[in-house]
Amino acid sequence: MRIDILTLFPDMCESVLSSSIIGRARENNLVEIHCHNIRDYTQDKHNRVDDTPYGGGMGMIMQTQPIYDCFMSVCEQAEKRPHLIFMSPQGKTLTQSRVCELSKMNNIAILCGHYEGVDERVIEEIVDEEISIGDYVLTGGELPAMVLADSISRMLPGVLANDEAFQNESHYGSLLEYPQYTRPFEWHDKKVPDVLISGHHANIEKWKRERSLERTLKRRPDMFQNAQLTKKDKEFLKTITVQKITAK
Ligand code: SAH
Repeated sequence: MRIDILTLFPDMCESVLSSSIIGRARENNLVEIHCHNIRDYTQDKHNRVDDTPYGGGMGMIMQTQPIYDCFMSVCEQAEKRPHLIFMSPQGKTLTQSRVCELSKMNNIAILCGHYEGVDERVIEEIVDEEISIGDYVLTGGELPAMVLADSISRMLPGVLANDEAFQNESHYGSLLEYPQYTRPFEWHDKKVPDVLISGHHANIEKWKRERSLERTLKRRPDMFQNAQLTKKDKEFLKTITVQKITAK
């Protein structure tokens, strides 16, 4: 998969995407990520990329020309027009299921806004989708673009050790993950649940599934709307709901 990032701060993106798991995935050619500096495409003699808003108001607005020309150059380099995503607090909030869908595309590009925003006309002309990472406002689209590139890249084959690495994880099957433990067995008088060292595979799986259901019920009951639950899951949930009611 190829991901192109259009930004005014390519160094910021490059440093994040060169580290850890994503950095290694890039070295191993499991994902190709290119960061492009929008400023390199400005035709302004003073290298400007933004200007004050028409109609007045605060801040600076990124201009159409450098963004458009940067994207045209990306289309040429990628040999195919990528699906262009604009990171924006006005977009649809990112979810794990959208991440999975996007990870199946071969070619995506991500546009990062900055300052007060981007001239609406270039958004209308080239953007295919707007994505928000949550209901709050950041100074730029770079951190959101990193969130998107990271979440997509880790879904690609070979990036994580094996597919199980994300299949049990929070949000993947619309459930939160069960609690996890590592050595030492005892710490600050707290012991790891016995079942996890029992070596009994079926009991361990049952324990993990039940903790996962319990957590989701307690912390994010809204997630059950999309979860695929077995008959056993439903029976278990019923028992803990009854326990809760009788405890009151
Ligand atoms: N004036 C704009 C906000 C601009 S914030 C408005 O009210 O809608 C500057 C840039 O940061 C945006 O263009 C966008 O690219 C990025 N950004 C800020 N918050 C974001 C969020 N929650 N999700 C995705 N991108 C965001």
